[in-house]
Amino acid sequence: MHQSIIEPITTLRKKKHTALDSLFRYAEILRFGEFHVRFDPATGLRAIIAIHNLKRGPAIGGCRFIHYPSVDSAIEDSLRLAYMMSFKAAITNLAHGGAKAVLIKPKVIRDRRAYLEAYADFVHELGGRYITAMDSGTTLEDMDIISTRTPYVTCTSRSGFAHDPSPHTAHGVRRGIEAAVRFHLNKNSLEGLHVTIQGVGHVGYFLAKELHELGVRLTICDVNPLNVQRCVDAFGVSVVEPDEIYAVKADVFAPCALGATLNRQTVAHLPVSIVAGSANNQLAHHRYGELLRERGILYAPDFVINAGGLIYVAAIYDHADVMIATEQVGNIYGILMEIFMRAQQQGLPTHAVAEHMAREKLY
Ligand code: NAD
Repeated sequence: MHQSIIEPITTLRKKKHTALDSLFRYAEILRFGEFHVRFDPATGLRAIIAIHNLKRGPAIGGCRFIHYPSVDSAIEDSLRLAYMMSFKAAITNLAHGGAKAVLIKPKVIRDRRAYLEAYADFVHELGGRYITAMDSGTTLEDMDIISTRTPYVTCTSRSGFAHDPSPHTAHGVRRGIEAAVRFHLNKNSLEGLHVTIQGVGHVGYFLAKELHELGVRLTICDVNPLNVQRCVDAFGVSVVEPDEIYAVKADVFAPCALGATLNRQTVAHLPVSIVAGSANNQLAHHRYGELLRERGILYAPDFVINAGGLIYVAAIYDHADVMIATEQVGNIYGILMEIFMRAQQQGLPTHAVAEHMAREKLY
């Protein structure tokens, strides 16, 4: 049985199952490799490292440091995200597997350095099977602390690269939009097209910048007025309220904020030709990928089009030439073209084809 990458793991859980029952059930269905847990009473560290797959090389993935309502939800987050990282690495041909670390944030941390050192020792004990990186709640400074105890970390200030992967993610999304426009609208240039961007934070801002430079007409929305203003000042974009973005007629809709925005309410009426953005888990359910296809809307699968950041952090860790990494991010164009063509030939939704192609490289 294959669990679709977009299905929440909670849909598989039976009410009477404990967290451990669920864990082994997910592990089997998602074909997990390893799951490690560490509790350190001295610092309060409660850490999970989920390693999905090592076939292609050491597993790489960010370290989340956020509050969770329950240990169950932290487990679910680690498994689901690690699974997606494997797919991202495989589809973009990286010599890495997928993993994710989750640090369950306590109400109070007495000593953040000691806490992170305990986490670093945990990472080190895995002997390089897992390489940690920045994610929600962790910073460049945190990665620097971790690097004093283990070499299995990327995105440190010592790497000599800019630590923010967002511009690379945005560049990958731009290349993905170019591929979708070429395939679906038969156009070689984005000039004069209308793109709507939902969320102009780290990725959305850099995407707006690249598209503006290519002569694209932009309409944006964001719940943060400062982020909206920054784009208005820099690129002269049009602005709508967050709940109006789904009604704006455009060539491309680029979701760059939240997950599950392609759902029952939105997909049936979305007045666009293409959906191509950076957000993770865009489809609330796989049936909406099918519905997009039925409506003639081309969907660029999220874990492919948003892989630019992962490609970049992997390149930093592997001491690869940054030019090669940029070229690899650009190749998202070619990977998506292949997915679009196969989907057309096989009469399947693009996300199903992309998941199948990633699985072929993983197992
Ligand atoms: P971010 O937090 O910097 O930006 C998200 C933006 O969306 C913020 O400006 C926020 O105010 C806005 N937002 C939140 N709710 C909104 C709503 N209802 N309507 C409109 N705007 C809303 O995050 P980011 O790093 O730019 O990432 C954006 C998305 O891309 C996320 O889903 C993330 O998981 C995914 N992603 C990011 C990267 C990366 O390199 N940063 C890589 C892969 C995937």
